[in-house]
Amino acid sequence: MALESILPVPDVLQAKHVLAVQPHYDDNDIAAGGTLAAMQESGAEIFYLTVTDDLMGVINVSLSPAAAAAKLKREQETAGKIIGVRQNYWLGYPDAGKYDYFELRAGIIKHIRLVKPDFIFAPDPWLAYEAHRDHVQTGLATAEAAILYGLSRLSSSDPSVDAAYGGHELLGIAFYYTRDPNTTVDISQTRAKKEQAVRCYQAQFSPDDMEQLIAVLNFKASQFAEGRGYSHAEALKVLHPTALHCGI
Ligand SMILES: [Zn+2]
Repeated sequence: MALESILPVPDVLQAKHVLAVQPHYDDNDIAAGGTLAAMQESGAEIFYLTVTDDLMGVINVSLSPAAAAAKLKREQETAGKIIGVRQNYWLGYPDAGKYDYFELRAGIIKHIRLVKPDFIFAPDPWLAYEAHRDHVQTGLATAEAAILYGLSRLSSSDPSVDAAYGGHELLGIAFYYTRDPNTTVDISQTRAKKEQAVRCYQAQFSPDDMEQLIAVLNFKASQFAEGRGYSHAEALKVLHPTALHCGI
C-alpha cells in the first residue's frame, strides 16, 4: 500500500481560502502568481502576508524610505488587483535585516488564526543554495506555524485574535521556489495575468532586468509544462501539514 493512500498529497486547486506568505512584495506573484490567479478564478479567496518592508532592493536611491515604502505598496496593490488578492497584510520586518524568528512565527500564527486558510503558500525553506535569509526564515516559520497554529497554549502575536479563534483545519501547504516539486499547475490561461502583475513591481527592477525576469519565468513555465499537454506551468511542493514533522 502506498503512503499516498493514507496521506494523499492535498489538491491545491481545491483550496477555497488561501494565505500566501512571502518574504518580499513580489515573491508570491513571481513564484506562484499563475496558480493563485487560477485559484481565484475558480472561486478561492486569496490573502497575502508580506513579512519584510522590502526596502533594500528599491533601486532609486533618491527616494526617502517613506516614499519608497509607499511606491512598493502601490505596486503591490496594483498587482494584487490583477491576481485577485482579496486583502494584504504586512509584518514590516526590515528587509535583509535583523528580526526575531519566534516573533515572526507568532505573527504568521496570528494571521493563520485570523484568515483561517485551508491552504498556505510559502517559499521552500529547504531549497538548496538559497542564500537569502528572509526567504529561509519566512519558509521555515510558515512551515512551523502550519503545524503549531492549533495549539491553544501557544500564543500568537495578538491575544485578541487568539481569544476569538475557534479552530479550523489547514489542509495543506504549498511551497514555491522549490527544487523538489510534486505538483504541477497549468497556468496557460493565467500566465498573462501573472506577467502583468509581475510587471507592476518596477521599484526593484530596471527595464532590462524586468525583461530578463519575464523571459526566465516564461522559460521555466514552459519547462515545467513539458509533456503535460499544456503550454505553461508552475511547480510546487505540496504537503499535508502532518508531513512537516518527524519525516512522515
Ligand atoms: Zn524575495
